[in-house]
Amino acid sequence: MIVARTIAEVRSFRREVGAASVGFVPTMGYFHEGHLELMRRSRAENERTVVSLYVNPLQFAPHEDLAAYPRDFERDRSLAEGVGVDLLFAPDDDEMYPPALRPKEAAGERLQATVVRVEGLNSVLEGRSRPTHFDGVATVVLKLFHIVSPDRAYFGQKDYQQALLVRRMVADLDLPVDVRVVPTVREPDGLAMSSRNVYLTPEERAQATVLHRALRSAVAAIAAGERDAAAVARLLRETIASEPLARLDYAEVVDAETLSPLPRLAGRVLLAVAARFGRARLIDNEVVAVPGGPGA
Ligand code: AMP
Repeated sequence: MIVARTIAEVRSFRREVGAASVGFVPTMGYFHEGHLELMRRSRAENERTVVSLYVNPLQFAPHEDLAAYPRDFERDRSLAEGVGVDLLFAPDDDEMYPPALRPKEAAGERLQATVVRVEGLNSVLEGRSRPTHFDGVATVVLKLFHIVSPDRAYFGQKDYQQALLVRRMVADLDLPVDVRVVPTVREPDGLAMSSRNVYLTPEERAQATVLHRALRSAVAAIAAGERDAAAVARLLRETIASEPLARLDYAEVVDAETLSPLPRLAGRVLLAVAARFGRARLIDNEVVAVPGGPGA
């Protein structure tokens, strides 16, 4: 496996690969089975697989966990090599956002002048709690797509809104990339795998399974005939509130394509939750095809 630190190295790899298909998995590292599953999918569906490992400062707000975000490059390198990744791109901040290009302003330094914003999808759910997050995600993903030039790119359903937003950006900007979404990989007790799970104390870890339990109850209620979105959202909130260490951020039931509110459930519906457990802010979701509606 090649470890590339510079954009120039990735470009030269891409040129050498020529017409062979390239799958790409963008990550922030600290790999778990969720990341490895994306890499395996890419391996199965492409002749070459490129993984990026970059904790992108542009998608963290000043009060968020950028400095504390878990990192272990040697472990990540050997896990990626173990699943057969061809190239691991691990740039530093100066490579991704060259200091010479950073605009100097009275309000503080920005990383670059150009920002990609996917309007609408960026301001609900995660975007309401993290207003600048998706501008940072869209901007770095577009940069990475231009650096890697993949045929296919792999994203996890755990970050459903992110995958939807990337799909929209790809469509709006006519990017020649096929975006594929991989189902959420879970711990045996249902907790969605996340690099941030290492922040959890044993008590918080035990209670964090409530996110998945709440989603399962909501899916069961819909299967039993519930069609009132407010009632399903209430069930999510009440279930999460039953664990004393959970501090709910949001629990919402929305249209899975537009992310807009749905009074009556129909078609593809997204159940999305976010809560804090101590230092960790965790998210999870389920998508349900509700019989009787469009797309069902
Ligand atoms: P991250 O390193 O957290 O930015 O995640 C990199 C990619 O892995 C994103 O596309 C995530 O959606 C995906 N991912 C993270 N956790 C999981 C999981 N438990 N199952 C499937 N994909 C995941």
